[in-house]
Amino acid sequence: MIITDTHTHLYSEAFDDDRDAMMDRAFSAGVKRFFIPAIDSSYSKAMFDLEERYPDNVHLMMGLHPTHVKEDYKEELKHVETWLKKRSFVGIGEIGIDLYWDKSTLSAQQAAFRYQIGLAKEYKLPIVIHCREAFQEIFDLLEDEKSDDLFGIFHCFTGTIEDAHRAISYNMKLGIGGVVTFKNGKIDKFLDQIDLEHIVLETDAPYLAPAPYRGKRNESGYIKYVIQKVAEIYKLPVEKIAEVTTKNSKDVFKI
Ligand SMILES: [Zn+2]
Repeated sequence: MIITDTHTHLYSEAFDDDRDAMMDRAFSAGVKRFFIPAIDSSYSKAMFDLEERYPDNVHLMMGLHPTHVKEDYKEELKHVETWLKKRSFVGIGEIGIDLYWDKSTLSAQQAAFRYQIGLAKEYKLPIVIHCREAFQEIFDLLEDEKSDDLFGIFHCFTGTIEDAHRAISYNMKLGIGGVVTFKNGKIDKFLDQIDLEHIVLETDAPYLAPAPYRGKRNESGYIKYVIQKVAEIYKLPVEKIAEVTTKNSKDVFKI
């Protein structure tokens, strides 16, 4: 069985003390493919170090995270573009809009999101969207930018079934993680009405640990709790969920 974690920040300082042991636990849980979203330029070196240590398993994205869109965001976008010119990445992420932490940067976040969608089209790469309290703003922008060559993942999907259908209509897969195990997570109530071909699995480690570790540090091995819950929801064996969601991840990332 091969499980794919489509969104995990393995380079995070949260793993500096036990990264190899944490990776071994993930491998033992069947996780073999790890997709690594960027945050900002300060993490690039840690990402490249991680890739060097696990070259067969780790796949890097490049992008500027919406909560890291600050006054210097144009410089940060230059950093993203410089690296895209220099070497290959599997996606542009994570990008999007977050109005939970800071509403005052909305227009800069929108500009950065739109710019990076342009880069994704130019480099023929998927986008990985971070959306927090910003469904309307994100859908407005996707409506503007939609095209056959724009596709990707709506990471940590937490919306309604209508939001799910709308995201899918923009060629997005839904990234399902720890929230599906939460008692008040809501998506478990309708997920079985969404065809499994639209779903990918993720942890967002070190954030958003699934039950029974909710509130603790998350790690990629905990995806076993996510996949168990998804298997229950779809009434399918865990192996089948691993197979289909891994195939879906290959459709998105072409690797
Ligand atoms: Zn993330």
